[in-house]
Formats: sequence, structure tokens, C-alpha cells
Amino acid sequence: MRITKMAEKMIRKQHPWIFDQSIIYQSHAGTTGELAVIFDSKRNFLAVGLWDPDSVIRIRILQFLKPAEINKAWFAQKIQSAFELRKGLADQHTNGYRVVFGENDGLPGLVIDRYASVFVIKIYTTAWVPYLHWLTEIFRELFRYETVVIRLSRNIVDKAATEYRLMDGAILDGKKLDGPVLFTENGLTFEADPIQGHKTGFYLDQRENRARVEKLSAGKNVLNVFAYSGGFSVYAARGKATTVTSVDLNPLALAAAERNFHYNFNLPAIQACQHETITEDAFKYLQETAQRGKKFDLVILDPPMFAQNQSQVERAIANYQKLTQLAVEVLKPGGILVQASCSSRISPADFFDAIHAVIQRTGRQIHEIERTGHPQDHPVGFPEGEYLKCLFARID
Ligand code: SAH
Repeated sequence: MRITKMAEKMIRKQHPWIFDQSIIYQSHAGTTGELAVIFDSKRNFLAVGLWDPDSVIRIRILQFLKPAEINKAWFAQKIQSAFELRKGLADQHTNGYRVVFGENDGLPGLVIDRYASVFVIKIYTTAWVPYLHWLTEIFRELFRYETVVIRLSRNIVDKAATEYRLMDGAILDGKKLDGPVLFTENGLTFEADPIQGHKTGFYLDQRENRARVEKLSAGKNVLNVFAYSGGFSVYAARGKATTVTSVDLNPLALAAAERNFHYNFNLPAIQACQHETITEDAFKYLQETAQRGKKFDLVILDPPMFAQNQSQVERAIANYQKLTQLAVEVLKPGGILVQASCSSRISPADFFDAIHAVIQRTGRQIHEIERTGHPQDHPVGFPEGEYLKCLFARID
């Protein structure tokens, strides 16, 4: 293949995507998952990547600038080195974490999450399908797993079914799952549902922020909005929060949050904490709570991605700001606001500025405690890989 000068520049910067419009010559049509070899105008080798004729990201680069044979050993070496980077997590009593974070670990379009002995492969392009058998073989050599599950990003579900008879949530190898999987995170027990849950079953990316919340929770009334299965709630309870209120639209997620408390009832702090779940729209709940005059000491806002594309950015920022404003209305003077965003289209600076602008309007004072980004197992390897940011601040 040959590509435009602009795309060539990006490859030299090790950017992992080549878009359809950047391709100026190809030797033949190519099938999904075939290896595309890219040469520069002087016929020097540039890169090898996975070809996907149905994606605007036409090639996802595996190997930059130095030729290499892309075989099972090549994939094994990548997975092994990603795994090495996460080894420290085991010392932190954590066996639920991201083993491979796609592009950021040199394996574009591929995510591998681990929940104890269950490994979940999530693919964002069917170009990975021809390689899945290698991946399970590599896992067998590297890890002692019981089950390997495959998850598909929404946009490839149809193609995977019609062309490969591959279903979202299928078991690729090992034992069938007869319910959620239990795993530990910083010594706490949680369940994940790798087959039907959000992402691969749990929001592993918030582990470090949850630990920060734990340290700030002693003696506090905590409100966890967009709680999902109560990750932040359980940490707040272990941190000796007096009460925790978990709010989410999804009653199934809140039922999981209750179970996540129960798994940890051996800890006195978790038993002592009063936990309440409320199935309600976050905006409505905050509005009504403000009207009732009820206040909290610590409010966590961790909403779903608001901006799926560039055209939604403005509205997303307005929604983040609306949430900040509503949260501040239910926050005692001197209370702590923890607000996160997982929209990669919104830069950390724009997000933090947006929160500051709202607080200024309310006439209250903001004292930042910390701005945080990505945890250890979600490294950022290219600009688009950065999505998570979170502000910890005291609001007087
Ligand atoms: N904080 C969670 C992850 C949150 S994911 C954790 O650490 O695990 C976002 C959650 O927001 C989902 O559980 C989804 O059900 C919920 N949600 C989406 N829109 C909502 C709304 N309008 N009101 C309340 N919850 C909502």
C-alpha cells in the first residue's frame, strides 16, 4: 500500500491509525484482517497493520518502521510486555485489571481485561477475528485461566455474526460462566458480569480514583451519582463513610452494588456504613434533593460518555456543567466534589475549566485537591487514547 504524505508523517510519529482517505495505492482489495504492508514513496518499508475494509480506520498499525514477521510469537511478545507493566497490581491485592489497552499497548483495536481467572477479549474491529485462536493459545501459555470471553464493540456486532458467526459474550475457551465473576480490587471483592456488563463487566479504569475517595470519606455522608455497580460506594464505606447513597438509572446495576457491599461484610467499616440505592435519573434526583434541602459531605459524579463525536462536544460540556451546578447545590460548605469525564473528545483542560466556570458563577470558592488522569493499567500511548480525567476539589 502507499499512503499520503500526511499519513506518512503520522506513521513516523507512531500514530496507529490510517484512515480510508489516506490510501493512495493498494495492490489488491484485501480481506478483513489481512496484513497491509505500507511503503513510502521511495519504496522503503513504513509499517504493517491490520486491514479492515469496513472501517474508516482502514489500517491499524501493528509494527512501525522496522520490518517484522507478524506471527504468533510477535503477538505473544506484545501481550507479555503489556502484562509485565501490570505485575505490580498483584501486590496491591488486585486481580481485576486491564492487561492490554489497545493502541496504547501496541495492539490497536484490542482490549484484554482480567477478572481473576476469567479473561475478556474485547475487539473494536473484526480484523482481529482471524487472530483470536492465537490469542487464546498465547493466554494458555502465559496465564492460568478458566474462561476466555469475547466481547464485541457495538458497531461490529452484525458483521461478526453474519460473517464469522461470532456473538458478543461468547465463550471462546474454557468453562461456561454460570453467573458473575468475583475478583479483588485493592483487597475489596467485587463482581463483574463479563458477558452482559458494561465495557467488559466493570469500570476498571476508576480503581485509583476509588482509592482516593476512600481516603477522603471518613465520617462523611457520601453521594455516588452514576454509581453503576457501586465501585466508589464500597470504597467510601471501607473509608468509614457514615452513609453512602448510590444513584443510577439502572436497577440491575444497583442490585449488583448491593451484592458488592455484601461480599465485603467481613470488614466492620462496610457493615457499619448505611448504604442506600436509588433508581432514578441523576439530574432529576439532584434537582429534587436540592429542593428538599438535603446536603452531603462528598459527591461523586461519574457519568457515561457524553460526547461520542465532535458535534456533541458543546452539549456535553453543558451537561457536565449542569451536573456540577446541581452537585454543588447538594454539597455542604467545605464539602468535596469528585467529578469525572470519560469523553476523549473533551480535553482535560476544557473539562476542568468548565467546572471552575460553574463554581465561580455560584459564588462559592473552589480549592482543588487533585486532578487525576489514567491509572497504571490504562496507559496513554497516543493522543486519542487519553479520555479519563477527574477533579477532586473542596467547595467552600
Ligand atoms: N462510577 C461507576 C461507573 C459509571 S458508568 C463505577 O465506578 O463503576 C455510568 C453509569 O451511569 C451507568 O451505570 C448508567 O446506568 C448510569 N446512567 C446513565 N445515564 C444516567 C442518568 N441519566 N441518570 C442516572 N444514571 C445514569
